[in-house]
Amino acid sequence: MSVGMLNLQAQFRTLRDEVMAEITQIFETQSFILGSRGKGLEESMAKLCDMKYGIGVSSGTDALLLSVMALKPKPGDEVITTPYTFFATASSIVRGGARPVFVDVDDQTFNARADLLEAAITPRTRALMPVHLFGQMVDPAKWLAVAKKHNLLIIEDAAQAVGAKFNGTVAGGFGDLNCFSFYPTKNLGGAGDGGMVLASDDALAHDVRINRVHGGKDRYFHDQIGICGRLDEIQAAVLLIKFKYLDQWNHRRRAIAALYNQGLQGTPAITPFEAPGAWHTYHQYVLRVPKRDELMEHLKTKGIGNMIYYPVPLHLQKCFDFLGYKEGSFPVSERLAKETVALPMSSELMDAEVAEVCEAIRGFYGGGGA
Ligand SMILES: *Cc1c(COP(=O)(O)O)cnc(C)c1O
Repeated sequence: MSVGMLNLQAQFRTLRDEVMAEITQIFETQSFILGSRGKGLEESMAKLCDMKYGIGVSSGTDALLLSVMALKPKPGDEVITTPYTFFATASSIVRGGARPVFVDVDDQTFNARADLLEAAITPRTRALMPVHLFGQMVDPAKWLAVAKKHNLLIIEDAAQAVGAKFNGTVAGGFGDLNCFSFYPTKNLGGAGDGGMVLASDDALAHDVRINRVHGGKDRYFHDQIGICGRLDEIQAAVLLIKFKYLDQWNHRRRAIAALYNQGLQGTPAITPFEAPGAWHTYHQYVLRVPKRDELMEHLKTKGIGNMIYYPVPLHLQKCFDFLGYKEGSFPVSERLAKETVALPMSSELMDAEVAEVCEAIRGFYGGGGA
């Protein structure tokens, strides 16, 4: 049997009645944008993360963009982040009017190293943007200590880490502007694009809230040049239904990760490292492996899904040439781009499927890599 990267059809079968009733209701009322369901989702997310305000937006990318805009950066102002992440992390910094500055990542957690932050801080630094990659948080205490000492804001990119924890702090619960994505493949995914910004500061929350509707508190009176970045009711309805199952689904992902770890023992694959204190939610289950490309080819012939996150670190992307980085600037990120592969992972994945994937990987290495 083939094993897909994720199985959203199976998830939908368990939610069909709940979802379709809500969709019908939305069509009956014809209230499609910024309604009661959006408010409900904002409250649920804010509560989950112990933040004061939730602001539903049109995508994770727009959550990040609106957050960077809220810094009101002057040309040349800098935001420090990781080069080993999804593109939107850094593109949002540039589009929001600031300049991304990268620090390299830890070779075990794949997250940006807090101990490299201070050397990257300049008089132009305005904010830190930690990314909780693949569902594992950075250590909030370390990032907060640097932010406090240098008077910087923190924008959390928690797009991959909804529900994750670190020593009792929830992802999206310690920064000043905390961003989530509800892209369908995320651990909490909608029926299209969606996102959320969480904030506790009144002024920052106000800024994001008005900028998601063209920068006006009162319609047609524009204090700022905002964007069209609202969350729609269909997304909010689907997400509110799924929100009830998030914790259960994250537990299942962790159980699957444990099965993989066990099933891959004795192979040369390096299984994911969970830092002490971290409660990883395995948005992706990512291995470091020898002969990565050959292994991927082998899995493909067996019908087993696999992906590279991410094949080119952001400092080597053509569009970021102007930042002046080059090959060798961030050696760990560059090495991970060549050595990592993500295996099928979703809360619907079955134990037998995990076993099949492990068997295929064991076969590949056991058979001398043929
Ligand atoms: C998915 C993702 C985003 C962007 O979210 P969208 O909803 O797709 O715009 C940003 N950062 C990271 C780390 C992501 O994984």
